[in-house]
Amino acid sequence: MNTADLRHLDNAHVWHPFTPMLEQRHEETPVIVAGDGFHLIDTDGQRYLDGTSSLWCNVHGYRVPEIDRAIRDQLDCIAHSTLLGLSNVPSIRLAAELVQRVPPGLEHLFYSDNGSTAVEAALKIAYQYYQQRPGGEIRDLFISLSGAYHGDTVGSVSVGGIDLFHATYGGLLFKTIKVPSPAACRLPPGQTRESHHAFCAAELERTIVEHRRQIAGFIIEPLVQGAAGILVHPPGWLRRVRELTAANDILLIADEVATGFGRTGTLFACAQEEVRPDLLCLSKGITGGYLPLAATLATGEIYDAFLGEPAAGKTFFHGHTYTGNPLACAAALASLKLFEKNDVLGNARQSADLLQRRLAELCDHPNIGDVRQKGIMVGIELVQDKTHLTPFPPAARVGHRVVLAARRRGIVIRPLGDVIVLMPAPAMPVELVDELCTATLAAIDDVLREIGRPV
Ligand code: PMP
Repeated sequence: MNTADLRHLDNAHVWHPFTPMLEQRHEETPVIVAGDGFHLIDTDGQRYLDGTSSLWCNVHGYRVPEIDRAIRDQLDCIAHSTLLGLSNVPSIRLAAELVQRVPPGLEHLFYSDNGSTAVEAALKIAYQYYQQRPGGEIRDLFISLSGAYHGDTVGSVSVGGIDLFHATYGGLLFKTIKVPSPAACRLPPGQTRESHHAFCAAELERTIVEHRRQIAGFIIEPLVQGAAGILVHPPGWLRRVRELTAANDILLIADEVATGFGRTGTLFACAQEEVRPDLLCLSKGITGGYLPLAATLATGEIYDAFLGEPAAGKTFFHGHTYTGNPLACAAALASLKLFEKNDVLGNARQSADLLQRRLAELCDHPNIGDVRQKGIMVGIELVQDKTHLTPFPPAARVGHRVVLAARRRGIVIRPLGDVIVLMPAPAMPVELVDELCTATLAAIDDVLREIGRPV
């Protein structure tokens, strides 16, 4: 089948995620047929350097011999069997390996299939935990940060803070409390960065103390809010959240779906502030970006509240068909080995340094309002007017146009509105990260020229 035929069928039958489908029909979307190292290859043989790591999950590149082999070996044994009433070898081995690497004390691992379900499971575990621990109580409120993103299921959207999603699905969502994120890039009038941080810290403490007996959990992306636009928290913020939640008997849920597996320079972001959450959500990079898998890790104290006679009804009533899929777990085990063998974290830190140097070039650019970075997670915010940080009109779809221009230059990136996100794979060689920067900056200038802005 040629590209035109495939596109025709794609337009006729495939409903793409987060995609205005009418517009996509006219965009000659590449149809990917293969991967090679850190490049994607389409049906016309065009190669694209992948600057988004397949939506933030790819770690070691494509067609990695060790991971390919691990999956093939597992396929020779069994592709799937259930974890309900049975167990399987790779899921046991992976759980044991992961608990060695996450902050100490998170000893129990509940499998699911994607980031949203990892969060959904954490929310339900927290809610049930308070009912079942000694002196059980109903706590039905969760706290999260303004602008937060934790996934697309109803529970994970409820704890999110993306206005558009709440406007669209508000009637379905449960009530949550938001505290202001200290990472907001546009400061309220009259505030300095320091005074804003102080305000957020005071609000954090006030909210926690005021609602402490109703709150089942505080959910946070440690260090950086990815999908909110790569919003980086000030140092010490996560630690402060941990201190306050611990002091007020509130579970801390760390959503490391995006930050986990090397994106911030350490295997898990929590380690940078020596924080141990009560529940930890992992997905995306867990399999090196090969197969869907997620894990929600819990402390012994939480796990123990679910133990009892079957008739006591303390069971966690949750589970998906493909939970603990052996192929995905085998890929994840191979990926963990590669982290060590190839010093992937060392490479990610070198890439982070390079990104910092290259992005420093942008500070005087008239249409770049802000450049934010944590490790190898980068957000470049395009604005109409730098002095007042005036955004471009949404209808101009400037971020989207940059993505199309980048594609013409042979790289794949994805925006969050007018924030251009760079998310190279942690193992991407530094020279390719450099190439990614050069092409991205050129694509930004292509679009600014197109819309008549001097560059
Ligand atoms: N949490 C965070 C922090 C995420 O970035 C994402 C996805 N971008 C999710 C949860 C949801 O993951 P998934 O898309 O696999 O459901």
